[in-house]
Amino acid sequence: MSTIARPTTPRTVARPATRPGAPASDWPGAGPLLPVVGADLAAPLVDGRTVRHVNLDQAASAQCLESVAARVTAALPYYASVHRGAGWASQVSTSALEQSRRTIGGFVGARPGDVVVLTRNTTDALNLLAGCLPTWGDVVFLDLEHHANLLPWQARPHRAVATQPTLEGTLAELERVLAERPAALLAVTGASNVTGEELPVDRLVRLAHRHGARVVVDAAQLAPHRRISLTESGADYVAFSGHKLYAPYGAGALVGRRDWLDRGTPHLAGGGAVVQVDVEQTQWACAPARHEGGTPNVLGAVALAAACEALGALPEAALEVHEAALRERLVHGLTALDGVEVHRVFADDAPSIGVVTFTVDGVDAGLVAAYLSAEHGIGVRDGRFCAHPLLAHLGLDAGAVRASVGVGSRTEDVDRLVAAVAELVAHGPSWTYARTEGRWAPSPDPRPLPAWAGDSAGPAGASPCES
Ligand code: PLP
Repeated sequence: MSTIARPTTPRTVARPATRPGAPASDWPGAGPLLPVVGADLAAPLVDGRTVRHVNLDQAASAQCLESVAARVTAALPYYASVHRGAGWASQVSTSALEQSRRTIGGFVGARPGDVVVLTRNTTDALNLLAGCLPTWGDVVFLDLEHHANLLPWQARPHRAVATQPTLEGTLAELERVLAERPAALLAVTGASNVTGEELPVDRLVRLAHRHGARVVVDAAQLAPHRRISLTESGADYVAFSGHKLYAPYGAGALVGRRDWLDRGTPHLAGGGAVVQVDVEQTQWACAPARHEGGTPNVLGAVALAAACEALGALPEAALEVHEAALRERLVHGLTALDGVEVHRVFADDAPSIGVVTFTVDGVDAGLVAAYLSAEHGIGVRDGRFCAHPLLAHLGLDAGAVRASVGVGSRTEDVDRLVAAVAELVAHGPSWTYARTEGRWAPSPDPRPLPAWAGDSAGPAGASPCES
């Protein structure tokens, strides 16, 4: 079993003694933990060959579980208006929506009395909570957060706490700031979407509660990788996204304490969120209906609940073991390459989910990502991952490359990435690439898109803010 050397600086993982190319039996291996749709997707390469697509961008949006797709297919014939319909299909859909709510709450260990608000995603959930804050106290957060757990609080009284070189130092700094004056809320990620490092939720909850602050856990990254329990951790709220949890149907959730949610500003004013309306004033419903105006995404909720069931049914620690093998292999392989650095926030060994961010000396991150796709059929993410303050803190203002694994990932996926980066380091790209509107792409790019997908994969169609 290979080991990862402790980094000597907070920023990078040290180079191991073993180089890639060691016999496969020396490495821990892993197959897929659960079957996903598209596991054998074919990807065209710029040289005309076709290979199995390797999706190492699971942290952005994870591939759909086969069991989720099957549940959605089973639910579709019943798809009908919920809550207000008298027809049989409406009754089935309404029951499915409310059953999904209960399953989702159970997945995060909701306490009796906690509310499960169905949202579009984590961003939506955290913005919803921001509209429910009490008038006293401010919000405290670390500067390593994803923008979704930073911008909603920036618009309100807040204190941003500087991440320290060690996790212990960071906790001490948080404690100091929370002790200065009362905060209403500590908003903290369960795991970094950049480095995969986990934050110790249980300790953070104890720390915040000691100083009278509630805690919301941004579990967009944590929920797909680790078990979370509001009951056991004592966290007050948790927010997460279905599309990162192998349920790509546009639903997310905010789960937590009722009082703020019952009094807060209705998140989406409209039908279903009210008790009584006249033309001048409205009597709002309690949560969750208060925040769920408009027709709910019943298939999204069904899909998210199916994913919760599938992950919840895995044996204890199965996710950790699967990912640890893949992550270790990936970090070991990458750090053995000349000029490749794997980045971390903390110098001490924070446990990590299967998210790894790296840079290749002298090669723009966008070019690395374009090369991996065009010449090797490997999907990764590049850029600043919607965490600009953290990338600045890591000295990575120019961006980096992120590889992330999930339950469908295999040993071979990791090996293909390491081999491709090794080839890049040794020989450079074999194709030509051009940068247009800030995005690297093969030039020319002869790869055809499926006819139904149109033809706008290039920079004009790219999102300006990547996860
Ligand atoms: N928080 C973290 C840690 C994330 O990684 C992401 C997305 O990448 C978000 C929040 C936002 O999630 P969503 O885009 O599903 O709202």
